[in-house]
Amino acid sequence: MSVSPWNSTVLPPSTYWGQYQDITKSNAHLNVAERLWVAWYAWMQNDVLATGIMSFAIHELVYFGRSIPWVFIDSLGILRRYKIQNSKVPSLREQWDCAKFVLLSHFTVELPQIWLFHPMAQFFGLSTSIPFPSPWAMAYQIAIFFVMEDTWHYFMHRALHWGPLYKAIHKIHHQYSAPFGLAAEYASPIEVMILGFGTVSCPILWCALTGDLHILTMYIWIVLRLFQAIDAHSGYEFPYSLHHFLPFWAGADHHDLHHEKFIGNYASSFRWWDYLLNTEYTPDALKRRREEKAKATKAQ
Ligand SMILES: [Zn+2]
Ligand SMILES: [Zn+2]
Repeated sequence: MSVSPWNSTVLPPSTYWGQYQDITKSNAHLNVAERLWVAWYAWMQNDVLATGIMSFAIHELVYFGRSIPWVFIDSLGILRRYKIQNSKVPSLREQWDCAKFVLLSHFTVELPQIWLFHPMAQFFGLSTSIPFPSPWAMAYQIAIFFVMEDTWHYFMHRALHWGPLYKAIHKIHHQYSAPFGLAAEYASPIEVMILGFGTVSCPILWCALTGDLHILTMYIWIVLRLFQAIDAHSGYEFPYSLHHFLPFWAGADHHDLHHEKFIGNYASSFRWWDYLLNTEYTPDALKRRREEKAKATKAQ
């Protein structure tokens, strides 16, 4: 049986935990996460507000929760030997200024838009029912979103490096030639909208085509995409970084060079678009290009 937490007719007990206990009594078949989810919507009694607050809170918690440890790592110098641009360690002052800018943008630009999320999700038929989809269904859909978003990001980011667009929009993001976690969303509001459009509209497009998407899958996708963006800006490369195991994964190694050199490595999550369209900017790619050039000159 599927139960929709939206349009709930359950009267709100005075506390969230009261609501949770009520739901537990009458829905013993639900797991804890599902009960917490239904209790939230039933307690809020306002679906737009419930989704809006949850979306904004998840974004803030994940963004700062994931990037603040990097502030300590930079300040304490504990992992300095893994820092990619070893001589350029951001000061606390720089990171604080960056955090203030990002917070201002979250509250003034993103917060009002997050309020549109619930009506948009309803319009495109995202499911909010319980039980939740299986982990397998969530995993394969999220993998598809990573591939779709990476394609959008590659072409839009490459376009943002075209002179006039770079000067008008993208230059702000490149203020830090040695990036750090908090700088992932340090960008013009127009850039946040252009690139954020890919993150939100890829799942929406998937849902419009297949009619199969749960809002929880969308949340997990956004959380993983945030992890990816913050890690790519962290400025640290480890022997156990993901791209050593998945060679097509981009990671910090890829994006740090983009900030340092201002050219190439435009994709977000994967390396294939840069490889295919010859915009890869890594020592290997540069070597390969030099060799191809030398071969071509020899052949003439
Ligand atoms: Zn760029
Ligand atoms: Zn960047």
